[in-house]
Amino acid sequence: MSDLIEGSLDPIFKPRSVAVIGASRRKNSIGYSLVHNLVQNEFAGTIFPVNPTTDVIHSLRCYPSVAEIPDPVDLAVVVVPRDAVPAVVDDCLAAGIKGLVVISAGFGEVDDEGREMENAIRDKVREAGARMVGPNCMGVLNADPDVRLNATFAPTPAKPGTVGFVTQSGALGVAILNVAAGLGIGFTQFASMGNKADVSGNDLLEYWESDENTKVIAMYLESFGNPKRFAQIAKRVSHEKPILIVKSGRTEEGARAASSHTGALAAADVTVSAFLDQCGVIRANTIEELFDIAQALDRCPLPKGNRVAILTNAGGPAIMATDAFVGLGLQMASFSEETVQSLRSFLPAEASVANPVDMIAAANVDEYAKATKHLLEDPGVDIVLAIHVAPLTSTPLEILHAIGNSATGRPDKPVAVVMMASEDSYGDVRTQAESIAIYRFPESAATAMARLHEYSQWRDRPSTPAPEFDVDDDAVRTLIDATCEGYMDVESAFSVLEAYGIPVVERRIVGSESEALRAAEEMGYPLVLKAVGPELVHKSDVGAVAVDLRSMEEFYRAFTDMEKRIQAAGVRAESFLLQRMVRKGHEVIYGLSVDQKLGTTLMFGLGGKYVEVFGDVRFAVPPLSKEEALEIVEGLRGHRLLEGVRGEAPTDREFLAEVLLRLAQLSERHPRIAELDINPFLATSSRAEALAVDVRIRVEPVR
Ligand code: ADP
Ligand code: MG
Repeated sequence: MSDLIEGSLDPIFKPRSVAVIGASRRKNSIGYSLVHNLVQNEFAGTIFPVNPTTDVIHSLRCYPSVAEIPDPVDLAVVVVPRDAVPAVVDDCLAAGIKGLVVISAGFGEVDDEGREMENAIRDKVREAGARMVGPNCMGVLNADPDVRLNATFAPTPAKPGTVGFVTQSGALGVAILNVAAGLGIGFTQFASMGNKADVSGNDLLEYWESDENTKVIAMYLESFGNPKRFAQIAKRVSHEKPILIVKSGRTEEGARAASSHTGALAAADVTVSAFLDQCGVIRANTIEELFDIAQALDRCPLPKGNRVAILTNAGGPAIMATDAFVGLGLQMASFSEETVQSLRSFLPAEASVANPVDMIAAANVDEYAKATKHLLEDPGVDIVLAIHVAPLTSTPLEILHAIGNSATGRPDKPVAVVMMASEDSYGDVRTQAESIAIYRFPESAATAMARLHEYSQWRDRPSTPAPEFDVDDDAVRTLIDATCEGYMDVESAFSVLEAYGIPVVERRIVGSESEALRAAEEMGYPLVLKAVGPELVHKSDVGAVAVDLRSMEEFYRAFTDMEKRIQAAGVRAESFLLQRMVRKGHEVIYGLSVDQKLGTTLMFGLGGKYVEVFGDVRFAVPPLSKEEALEIVEGLRGHRLLEGVRGEAPTDREFLAEVLLRLAQLSERHPRIAELDINPFLATSSRAEALAVDVRIRVEPVR
């Protein structure tokens, strides 16, 4: 029996002995590769091949079954055909094995029968206090020199380093290990998750959260198993160490491929991006970009600001770098007089000492070292990029070491290097310089620095827990119960907002013409008239909205015209809605919908007709902090409209954020609300005047 902590991932990542069940003598088979990789990587513990039909594999004694292995086993790697897996797992658990990696495929990713088998195995594993990675995975790896576990069938070994990597796709795992090896990036652990029947990405986040050696957590994901839990863990971990994600399924086509791939439907990409931003997770577009950023996170401090100084020995790449940085929202630093003087004192007269600093082609090791040092000392510089093209005077490695030495003097500012060297020397540069972030092209350096800056800002942002508003939940519950299922009637929908302290326009619901005229006279003019009913989804499209009716005559004409138009359109009006005409405010939209993978998501944006034309909206996943809500309101592309242009008073953005927070609370406490749309909400400079004039709510049946 193992003495490793029950339920922990240690038996999987730090086993002292490994059994390979389904080991094979047949070269090129997975059962052979697994044993071969364990041996080749010089696993620090004991290896037990298991196969009933042979005595020796890879010079190791082979056992007919797990039960016959005389010593305790911590980890079992299973590669038998699908139908043999349940019995093998039973044997392993009976032998007291606490860690399982099931490579075998044919489970939940294939059919219902496979899913059932997978669930049954998972239940048994958990019951026994063991943990399982897979099934349908590529294996796990621990590069720690004291463990040296390569329990994968990937041909590329991993060198020790600081990145913990988890991938949902096994095939991609091979490519990941290859790319990393080429870039000289090392790992703490690496895991291919497969179907995530037991161990999930969330478990690995928590494992690496408490692992000192893991500085950067990287993930390739196709879906979020439990987004709420992911958000909780990721927000907490991101405050300590960075999490980097390549989430595939960005396009609709990609999302479809992902769902047939691992049996998971991908969430709409914008929503996913918003969700990751909120969690402080850094998103990369490609595996290569992920490693560009990982390199910087591993080797650079986080920048305190966004002002960049560029140092170069060639003009062209510096211009490209400038464009890239500025395009990504970073700023070109302007240097202090002192910096300019210092640079002048040792650089040749032809050099340019403005930003970018062009030291011309003859720049030597000493000049790179000094210039880097002076730029880092300038209080107006947060980030330094050094570019070195085609070595004339020195080898690139010497230049790199010189820059690296200057950089260690300022552990508060990141320094990235772009080395435009020949293919041969580039390989050397990449693998030998471990303490500095090196890029081949300015754009990748700029992307990495921009992501570091965003992440740094996220970490520095205060985060207060979601506020709680004093609301009338009983009223909301009654309204939801009365609706049963489908769209709420208009009056109830407005009442839900009122119960939640969201201001709504003064209104009256009427059934008949005479009732309408009486109500209009009582309310006074100007008024807005709307026909409402289940079929009237976009009211203005069928002429069911008449605004700014200033007298009894205008109102009467509007009413009779509207009745005709609606009849002509072939829809039925259930009743009529009279509203006070509101003249003030910018139209904004609030939305709540249930995303298949992320659960409830909230939306805020420019409303009315703008939403159809510009689609300028932002998404968020509750719970939301006050700061997050404000960031969503202020993060619109057209945010300047809300700030007030040409002498307009600015809108009360704190209040707009508050409405979002109230909706977040509504969604958390009343999960039967599946859809809510306030479009438009009229945003004004004073909260006393802001209000909703149109709302729709859809309720889900009780489950
Ligand atoms: P729908 O979205 O179904 O077409 P709305 O009730 O949103 O109908 O009305 C359409 C547009 O009419 C709104 O975007 C807004 O510009 C205007 N409007 C609606 N109600 C009012 C009101 N009470 N005061 C001022 N303008 C209004
Ligand atoms: Mg509307």
